[in-house]
Amino acid sequence: MKHYYINNNTSNPNNNNEVHTEDCRYLPSPSNRTYLGYFSDGIAAVADAKAKGFLKADGCIHCCSEAHTE
Ligand SMILES: [Zn+2]
Repeated sequence: MKHYYINNNTSNPNNNNEVHTEDCRYLPSPSNRTYLGYFSDGIAAVADAKAKGFLKADGCIHCCSEAHTE
């Protein structure tokens, strides 16, 4: 189980809001991220992000490869 955050910005090439774990080296700065919660994997974290309105949420390829789709 880890804490997950989502990037408030869609600055990557696919315009997704990327989801990261708390220990990812690409975790956005506090002002650019939203806390999602404590989940067992990135798939659960991305599903939660979509339920919260981040319809373009996608897992970071580095820390959430199981939830990285594009
Ligand atoms: Zn990451």
